[in-house]
Amino acid sequence: MTDGVRLVVFGRQGAGKGTQCARLAAHYGVPHISTGDMLRAAVRDGTEFGLKAKEYMDAGKLLPDDIMVGLVAERLAQHDARGGWLLDGYPRTPGQAEALAAVSGDAPFTLAINLDVPESVVIERISSRRVCASDSSHIYSVQQPPAVAGVCDRCGGEVVQRADDTAEAVRERLDTYQRQTAPLIAWFEERDKLATVDGNDAPDVVTASLIATVDERHHL
Ligand code: AMP
Repeated sequence: MTDGVRLVVFGRQGAGKGTQCARLAAHYGVPHISTGDMLRAAVRDGTEFGLKAKEYMDAGKLLPDDIMVGLVAERLAQHDARGGWLLDGYPRTPGQAEALAAVSGDAPFTLAINLDVPESVVIERISSRRVCASDSSHIYSVQQPPAVAGVCDRCGGEVVQRADDTAEAVRERLDTYQRQTAPLIAWFEERDKLATVDGNDAPDVVTASLIATVDERHHL
């Protein structure tokens, strides 16, 4: 496949990006590239890079642009990303967006989706979010727990609260979003790449609306 979708999904933490991006990537048959999941895997592996990343993540701060740009450029150069991709949680600053436009030169992203959920709702969602400690893309919540308490349905890993889902880190991350990521809305809009999708609805309704938005833009 050479003409798959190239999508960017951003939004406040807790907007449902992880869940929705996994569904969208499966629907369009492209790799789901989540920079948060990549960083959490590095933390779990205990690499030097992972230890450094953890300090930023636990504090609710963004890693420096140059590090993230290199990480994503390397990932997009891999074979499975040649026919399209879905980036979840990247870019998160206008600088990262400029870099993405540069590395994806002849195959630029087609659409940036702002998965929009109000701050008051995401605060509530994050406090009840749980993830698998072995693979943070396996997501649960207090309302939707795994079948066996504390054990991931998909891989048997331990289901825990994310280290950066504490009240203090969440406040910091929302503030970081407002200061560093919200300016992307104007950046994408100026380039005629922005679509805003209401994420404050039942997961299946949000998925359907995301697919309709992408299909319309891609004339699928
Ligand atoms: P997420 O799972 O997308 O909420 O990401 C968790 C944490 O990883 C963020 O709070 C940041 O510390 C870090 N992170 C993920 N993606 C990026 C990015 N594109 N730029 C900088 N830091 C990032």
